[in-house]
Amino acid sequence: MSDLAALLDEIAERARRQPERGRVASYIPELAGVDPARFAMSVATADGQVHSTGDADVPFSIQSISKVFALALALGRLGDQLWDRVGREPSGFAFNSILQLEHEKGVPRNPFINAGALVVTDAVLGRHPPREYLGELLRFVRAAAGDDAIHINESVARSELATGHINVALAHYLLAHGNLTNAPELVLGAYFHQCAIEMTTAQLARAGRFLIGAEGMPRLVSPERVRRINALMMTCGHYDASGDFAFRTGLPGKSGVGGGILVIAPGRAAIAVWSPGLTDQGNSKLGTEAVERLAKATGWSVFG
Ligand code: GLU
Repeated sequence: MSDLAALLDEIAERARRQPERGRVASYIPELAGVDPARFAMSVATADGQVHSTGDADVPFSIQSISKVFALALALGRLGDQLWDRVGREPSGFAFNSILQLEHEKGVPRNPFINAGALVVTDAVLGRHPPREYLGELLRFVRAAAGDDAIHINESVARSELATGHINVALAHYLLAHGNLTNAPELVLGAYFHQCAIEMTTAQLARAGRFLIGAEGMPRLVSPERVRRINALMMTCGHYDASGDFAFRTGLPGKSGVGGGILVIAPGRAAIAVWSPGLTDQGNSKLGTEAVERLAKATGWSVFG
């Protein structure tokens, strides 16, 4: 397995030399100051090892990667009923598109675009106060990673609470269509806090192990749900660049505007990468390139 460690170092070195790194998200002010030169990658393999390279001990904002954990929790709580309120098709639109939600009369395309994630958070909130939901979500993530230090960055949550006007609009639009059961402020508060969970790539790779679907990995959801969550990550995990990510890596992944990506190589490994510079579609530029390189070198792909 030292081959894997050497491969990760080589990938990090290549990333370090890249002049074109994409643009750090600035619409959440607290994220705008993150150093674009950061790079980290960790791989948790099905044999229980974790290999890391770069800034793998620096926590970053997982943002939309939290949607994977929220979905797992919601499916556990509500089962297939969830699909009455949110679809399972790739969006082909921006992550925060109001246009698409209007077209589809308040039923979001999938649980990974923002409107869909708001519905998932609303569904899992039920009648519970946001604090309880966030506690449960943190317990889930900590159990998955085997690490009780994982926490929410309150300043990032507050920063988005103050500026997340498009998400506010989406929540009200959902409410107007009868697809929100809680007050928009409650759902938005819970959602912004879930997005503000911080992890290092080493923690995130470990947290992703429950989706590897291999013997000895944390069993937090049923094997059938592992398959379905992976399918959604593959088809919807990168917004309107999901097809491109699948084409380049052959692996399911979920990105976040903090520059992180969680990727699953079924049966083999959970991979976390972090490079804060984004493409126009809001996905980590160098992170995607790094996963492409790793997949090519290891031969890991769901397509054989
Ligand atoms: N909190 C971010 C938002 O709602 C998450 C988006 C992302 O990470 O892609 O805008």
